[in-house]
Amino acid sequence: MDASDPDPHGFKRRGVLFVLSSPSGAGKSTIARKLREDQPELVVSVSYTTRPMRPGEVDGVDYHFVDLETFRAMVANHEFLEWAHVFGHRYGTPKAQVWNVLEQGRDILFDIDWQGAQQLHQLAGGDIVRVFILPPSMTELRIRLERRATDSPEVIDARMDRAANEVSHWDGYDYVLVNDNVEQCFDCVKTILAAERLKRSRQTGIIGFIRKLIRTSPTGE
Ligand code: 5GP
Repeated sequence: MDASDPDPHGFKRRGVLFVLSSPSGAGKSTIARKLREDQPELVVSVSYTTRPMRPGEVDGVDYHFVDLETFRAMVANHEFLEWAHVFGHRYGTPKAQVWNVLEQGRDILFDIDWQGAQQLHQLAGGDIVRVFILPPSMTELRIRLERRATDSPEVIDARMDRAANEVSHWDGYDYVLVNDNVEQCFDCVKTILAAERLKRSRQTGIIGFIRKLIRTSPTGE
């Protein structure tokens, strides 16, 4: 049995809604990218946002970039599983085919904030696994944000303020990790995903195996 195999016995199983959240700069994007590379079968939820595109971002890959009017129309049409205001912009998770994908036993990765994690939890209960990634210290977080050089000093100050607020929501998560070493943190994320995939409640096909196991018992009973 190989724990890195999402379906070691080929049992039918239900997928996992796998949420990664962190204050920006804590390393979540790097971990999410490593996870996607490591597990190409993972479906990635691409959010809609009204914030402007940053250099290097690709529309439809990093986000679907839309104007406020389009976003509002999507809210009115109930096209989002959840949405929230973040840094003065709106971000939303499209419903798309989330439930179909789950029933097919495929897992979906969400990079959303604590508000989104909370809303998804209310909606999807046992299907969701929430992982929160903390920076080792606030000083280190500022250094990482400055090194990233994608934001102005004012935006970095605002992100630092918001980080303190985000961290205060740590108890809304199933797992909380400190990212002081990206490889170790990534290993922990992979371990969590592997264990959650094996949870009995997700192994919807195990009952058939159990029945067969009992029927073929050597005592014939
Ligand atoms: P950024 O603008 O740096 O890409 O993202 C800012 C924050 O918005 C991050 O914490 C990210 O996780 C969060 N975010 C991205 N997409 C969504 C979404 O669809 N819903 C919610 N609630 N938060 C999101």
